[in-house]
Amino acid sequence: MRELKRIGVLSALMVLGAVLVVAGRQQERPTFTPEQEARLQIREVADGLYVIPGFDGGQSGGNVAVRVTNDGVLIVDNKFAYSFDFITEQVRSVTNQPIRYVMNTHHHGDHAGSNADFMPAAEVIAHRNARANIIRNNLTGAPPITFTHETAVFLGGAEVQAHHFGRGHTNGDSVIYFPDLRVIHTGDLFIYGERLDGTTLAPFWDLANGGSATEWPATLTGVLGLDFDEVIPGHGPVLGRAEVRTFRSNLETVIARVAAEVRNGATRDNIASRVDTSDLGWPLAPVRLQDVFDELTGAR
Ligand SMILES: [Zn+2]
Repeated sequence: MRELKRIGVLSALMVLGAVLVVAGRQQERPTFTPEQEARLQIREVADGLYVIPGFDGGQSGGNVAVRVTNDGVLIVDNKFAYSFDFITEQVRSVTNQPIRYVMNTHHHGDHAGSNADFMPAAEVIAHRNARANIIRNNLTGAPPITFTHETAVFLGGAEVQAHHFGRGHTNGDSVIYFPDLRVIHTGDLFIYGERLDGTTLAPFWDLANGGSATEWPATLTGVLGLDFDEVIPGHGPVLGRAEVRTFRSNLETVIARVAAEVRNGATRDNIASRVDTSDLGWPLAPVRLQDVFDELTGAR
């Protein structure tokens, strides 16, 4: 009887396991309109460098950079857990070379979501804090290779550098630099423009994962020290140095305005109503301004 019961429990567990596997596989790429799908197709940025565009964290994910060489392909970021097939098909449309390296700009699921699928055939590399964030948040695909300040991959005559300049969007942000092409991929340290649904992107300081609004401008000063002309943002179109400077200056403006209101006696409860950022074109949720308040007053 006891044995029968155990078999019953075992088979129930097996059924549950099968359901979970099916549920995992059911997570599929969303359906886009033909116009949206056209915007999401791989396109050339420079000789041997492509981007698979991403415009938001909810549907199309982050921008994926694709560096093609005669010895294989290195990609930067990989969108969502359901994006592996889409990304590999997009890469296959421009080269027969295999994807050998994957770099993560940070741990968020719209950038590093399909790490686990790439791991059997590729080396996955991220900042050590990004790996720690993946593990602490119970996400899959913790990168087996990490770095602290900078590292590089040399592949087929191309060099791809990863740099960590400090806190900003998270505490594990990497900026990927293609020095021969004078292009960088910033991850979400720099985002720009509109989501697929037409709403406007604004920066997110993820304090729960070590991000910092107040340290972010200095981190961007480090980024601007790289010798580049073109920028692939975390989300949005390929842009230039000027837009990164504007983004940094907007961040400084937000921090200065919150700081001024703190000096004028603002509280955590009323700070959002006392700081207007509409002229910056950033729709910042009240909690984002409370985060800055917390940072400036030492609450976090
Ligand atoms: Zn992010």
